[in-house]
Amino acid sequence: MKFSLIRTFGYFIGGIWTAWGGRKRIEAKQLKNLRRLMQTARKKSPYFNKLYAHLPDTNLISLTDLPVTSKSDLMGEFDNWLTDRFLTLAQVREHMSNMDNIGVPIGQYAVFRTTGTSGEPAVVVLPSSVLEFVYGLALARLFRQSMMTDKIQKTGANLAISGGDGHFAGAGLGKLMQHLAPRLAKQSIHIPVGQPIEKTVKQIIGIGQIASIVTYPSMLEILTREQEVGRLGIEPKLIRIAGETFTPELRKRVEKAFPSLELGIRDTYACTECLFMAYECDCGRKHVLEDWVILEAVDENKQPVSDGELSSTALLTVLSNHVQPFIRYDIGDRLRFYRAPCACGSPFRSFQIEGRQATVVRVGDVTLSHLTFDLEHESAQRVQLVQTSEFVFEVRAELLNHENPDQVFEQIIQSVSEVFAKNGLVDVKVGKK
Ligand SMILES: [Zn+2]
Repeated sequence: MKFSLIRTFGYFIGGIWTAWGGRKRIEAKQLKNLRRLMQTARKKSPYFNKLYAHLPDTNLISLTDLPVTSKSDLMGEFDNWLTDRFLTLAQVREHMSNMDNIGVPIGQYAVFRTTGTSGEPAVVVLPSSVLEFVYGLALARLFRQSMMTDKIQKTGANLAISGGDGHFAGAGLGKLMQHLAPRLAKQSIHIPVGQPIEKTVKQIIGIGQIASIVTYPSMLEILTREQEVGRLGIEPKLIRIAGETFTPELRKRVEKAFPSLELGIRDTYACTECLFMAYECDCGRKHVLEDWVILEAVDENKQPVSDGELSSTALLTVLSNHVQPFIRYDIGDRLRFYRAPCACGSPFRSFQIEGRQATVVRVGDVTLSHLTFDLEHESAQRVQLVQTSEFVFEVRAELLNHENPDQVFEQIIQSVSEVFAKNGLVDVKVGKK
């Protein structure tokens, strides 16, 4: 796998040129990118070839003619989904069974898995074009912010508190970029999100001056509580968050607890399937990277909702990944597009997020990130942890052929119970449905 600075520069220049041309140029670029992706998908992905078999010539199709896709359907057909016929799910699973391979590419591709407490995780295959797009477009859309961030990050340590023991992009991306493009990769200290909070606090205090923190809102809430009661005592200048819903209430609490935040709190909207979907402007709105990303706000029948209305879910189309096409892919997030243009003057459409699928687990006054739980088991798929009352949880799972199903459940239940116990929650009951 090779990262090309020249192609990254191409994305940067292209990004500037598109924004400069306003709506007309943005829409033309999006259509061109969409047709290219559809063409590749139809030609090289047996899954999409079949799915689109009834549709006319690609140049005659509009986006809403295309069927909606879901994580479970695509994962069930993984080997027919990719446009590279040589990479199989078995190969990826084998690679991922070794934790030393986190952030290590397989040939030309980086591989990560999604997180969450419900459903089967998606396995995401990223060619270098996706990484070049992320860096190029981040610079094109956030040039001033990027320069300020670089300056701030030199004043102390940069912390990343993210997904621990798993092939998550949160933990593996930094490692991957240090290998592919060391000059671009930000040096940061990684703390796994799953460890007990006392240990994390001790570790952070031991580091000294903290310049920036990147983490999930659920973890930020925990850190804020530690700061409020005086156990943490740090002065970060920038906090970046991603992955879960960030509420205005939490924002207020964080700003009060950390008056040192010179560059404030930046809420990035991203997921493993699309590492950069939108950016937050100075007015606090999120603008879609429409030249390379399509986000549709839809109702429960997957029909478009009007601007200003809250959607039931959102459909994502990633135009920079031609190896694993995500086209009208249901991501489960609820969003609302603004009717009026943004005061920042950006030509890109803006929206706010009302809910993300990723959830946190609350028991009493303890909040745990969903990433704390290891819900993977080689003999089960679609493992789900359901909270039936404040202190009672149920494990639900579809088992693959296994001679002793009770044993599989027992092992998952034990792993979940250990997490609760490690966080001081000894009264929590975990059972099987
Ligand atoms: Zn704006």
